[in-house]
Amino acid sequence: MPETYPCLIDGELITTDATMEVLNPANEQVIALVPSCGKEELDRAVAAARRAFKTWKATPIDERRKVIQGISAAIKDNADELFRLLTTEQGKPHAQAQMEVFGAAGMAAAQSTLNLDEVINQDDEQRLSRTRRVPVGVVGGIVPWNFPVMMAIQKIAPALLSGCTIVLKPSPFTPLTTLRIAELIKDVVPAGTVNIITGEDTLGPLITEHPDIDKITFTGSTATGKKIMEGASKDLKRITLELGGNDASIVLPDADVSKVAEQLFWSSFSNAGQICVAAKRIYIHEDIYDELSQAIADYAKNVTVGDGAQQGTGVGPIQNKKQFDRVCELIQDAKDNGYKFLTGGDVDPSGTGYYVPITILDNPPEDARIVAEEQFGPVMPLMKFATTEEAIARANNSEYGLAGAVWTADPAKGVEIAEQLETGTVWVNEYLHLSPFAPFGGHKQSGFGAEYGVEGLKEFTYAQVITVKKDAFA
Ligand code: NAD
Repeated sequence: MPETYPCLIDGELITTDATMEVLNPANEQVIALVPSCGKEELDRAVAAARRAFKTWKATPIDERRKVIQGISAAIKDNADELFRLLTTEQGKPHAQAQMEVFGAAGMAAAQSTLNLDEVINQDDEQRLSRTRRVPVGVVGGIVPWNFPVMMAIQKIAPALLSGCTIVLKPSPFTPLTTLRIAELIKDVVPAGTVNIITGEDTLGPLITEHPDIDKITFTGSTATGKKIMEGASKDLKRITLELGGNDASIVLPDADVSKVAEQLFWSSFSNAGQICVAAKRIYIHEDIYDELSQAIADYAKNVTVGDGAQQGTGVGPIQNKKQFDRVCELIQDAKDNGYKFLTGGDVDPSGTGYYVPITILDNPPEDARIVAEEQFGPVMPLMKFATTEEAIARANNSEYGLAGAVWTADPAKGVEIAEQLETGTVWVNEYLHLSPFAPFGGHKQSGFGAEYGVEGLKEFTYAQVITVKKDAFA
């Protein structure tokens, strides 16, 4: 019988009679069971968070910082166990799992140093007016399966720092590492401030509509984001939505092919392409298209697809069957339409594990599904462009607006193009770099609000303006 990982409610580790299986995507074996929480457990968690909020919001910020630093230390001290577990449930290679676990610890530590300073609006003979940030209360955090640890921590840390308490739900596909962290921080966080519960997808709507939750912070698909907005509208909960993307990279003719090929490859294929800000459309200037597309395809031939726990694996399996089927469908659509493949494209339907070969398409049309939709898998379309104006227009021709990149030997030109891209983040000559001190968020249907930095922290608060008339009784 596989081990059952408990949830954390009000400082206690709990299990339920009903459980859910968690699979290893590399071999489709059941690795563990987790509680299938419903309304009863959610109500207990929310009530605990509400009780804890009373004291936590009044706890001096420096003490709150220490608790977050304690979470960071617990993750770092157990990183070896955690990153191996993360690979087993998520599929990503050990090196990438290690980066996520250490990244989450670093993110928590960095976020613990942020400040929400009061702002003086007016201070003269007549009045003193100041704006202070007040924690909103109990937060519901809902997390996807691609970066389960990072996404959980980037919600827990700012919620706690702002003075809020939180009930967090990991994805049913990847709850284990988060539950293990819950065990590790059980005695680090005051009871009720952090509650972590697992359940089927039906648990999400219960969180969104819970009358005693004040705010939802959600990372996941645009389709689910819309449902969350609808659910949260019933009592006008505050919401932060970090949703999907179909990010474009633009490679100018002066880019050094020998240097960018490898970086472009990993901008698309890290975590088997399952990154919201992965490069999902790459536009290459026609002068270097043949040379660069060949260099990327050649690089791909030396990257091994396999079990993330095996040494030498560069690209792991897709995390779950539903996503595997979707990626296979997009590849089949490209085949049916006769698009040209530079490499990959042949999925073994009888194999065990959700493996998709590294697949690179050669200049498919703009309306191809693989170009127009978010693929979220190891499949990258390379497209040719003639003018910068055309590349910008094609990059912006998307319902999404999450991130993008420009690659050029002329950084000033890169910035000029970056400023014309309709996305929340643009990198020039690098990719996937996110700072705990800079806001990260999307435009268009990639969501709204921000995570990270002071802007991210503010999302857990509301602005209260207190104005004192100085000469009222003069
Ligand atoms: P998903 O929307 O299917 O699920 C995300 C979470 O929402 C899970 O915990 C799930 O159980 C829960 N959920 C499902 N239905 C719900 C409902 N009706 N109400 C409330 N919660 C519900 O997303 P996914 O497939 O886990 O993740 C992949 C998607 O996430 C991709 O589109 C990707 O681009 C996006 N993503 C975005 C970011 C970002 O920061 N913008 C980061 C990572 C992933």
